[in-house]
Amino acid sequence: MLVEVPSKAVTSPILTIDLHALARNYRHLAQRTGAAPIAMVKADGYGLGATEVCLRLWREGCRRFFVARVDEGIRLREALPEAEIGVLDGAVPGSEAALTAYSLVPVLNSLEQVDRWRRAAAEAEQLLPAALHFDTGMHRLGIPAAEVHHLSQDPGRIAGLDIRHVMSHLACADSDVVALAGKAEAESADEQVPDSRHQGQASPSEQQLEAFLKLRAMFPQGAASLANSAGIFLDPRFRMDLTRPGIALYGGCPWGQLAANPMEAVATLEAPVIQVQDVPAGATVGYGATWQASHPTRLATLPVGYADGYHRSASNQARVWFGNVAAAAPIVGRVSMDLTIVDIGHLPEGAVTPGTTAELMGAQIPVDEVAANAGTIGYELLTGLGLRYQRRYVDGE
Ligand SMILES: *Cc1c(COP(=O)(O)O)cnc(C)c1O
Repeated sequence: MLVEVPSKAVTSPILTIDLHALARNYRHLAQRTGAAPIAMVKADGYGLGATEVCLRLWREGCRRFFVARVDEGIRLREALPEAEIGVLDGAVPGSEAALTAYSLVPVLNSLEQVDRWRRAAAEAEQLLPAALHFDTGMHRLGIPAAEVHHLSQDPGRIAGLDIRHVMSHLACADSDVVALAGKAEAESADEQVPDSRHQGQASPSEQQLEAFLKLRAMFPQGAASLANSAGIFLDPRFRMDLTRPGIALYGGCPWGQLAANPMEAVATLEAPVIQVQDVPAGATVGYGATWQASHPTRLATLPVGYADGYHRSASNQARVWFGNVAAAAPIVGRVSMDLTIVDIGHLPEGAVTPGTTAELMGAQIPVDEVAANAGTIGYELLTGLGLRYQRRYVDGE
């Protein structure tokens, strides 16, 4: 006999993704930079669903999307037949046929990749699109400055390539935004605050900008881009022709702080309470009994755990929000695989019962707050959201 399995809607927490908020964040960045930014949609659109994210941003006028892996690009191509899709890993060995077949634009990170892609163009007897990624100090990916010099003196090496972008990536844009804001505050208060980190030197971002401008002068073709989300909030020189925001689109604070985030929350994680219980003073909670009630209180259990990407390191640290009484409640004890417990002893009697919805992340509990309480960053939290949630895409009211 077949038994009907309850739908996820009955049993699962809900991850709501507000595509209208995403679109407003995109518009905000486009207005600030004066050009439609490249949308960074790697890791499945920072965990929120690359296809849904890209289709919404396309409607907003976005025509350029970058992913990390070739197969991410292949999957996006179906949804976006006309978009420019860049692949940050570049022309890695064995990727040439797929890059060509799906009209992807590899971000060439080394002379070895340049050579491989030029040979692919020669073999295909067609002009192939490419981006050139210069390393300006992060030493992660990119062609080192000395090699960019060689390349500029050997134009045959990029023959057959249509250079669409010339780019580099900032290592410290977030902390430089914070440092700049601190400096501006000190200056307005007329204080003399020594910049202990840089000792009067140009900031790391300024040094990278200077290095990039020199390399750009050797390769004036295509659009120049340097700024990630945080870079957009440095001074306007960083914006160049195009910018490459990721986290800001998805509602994370570009410089990772809680105060004054200019972006709107996009992802909301909610769960229904599944059990409420009264416990006496001295009762302990969860694995390892890491929390003990100092007085009689009431606890509520939520069906979310680290298997859902709600980090165990948030144990005894993070909080949730009960919208029905507009009040927060702290997580007590350890977050376990499927469950998390909150102390609701301070809330009005009867306010929280099985079925009452708690927000674990969203407009009231910012992603950056949850991340900070779990000892990580919003990027890791979003990209680690599990597959068990019921996902709901909304667009506006
Ligand atoms: C991920 C990434 C970005 C976007 O960074 P955010 O900090 O999320 O805005 C931009 N450029 C490159 C090369 C990246 O890898």
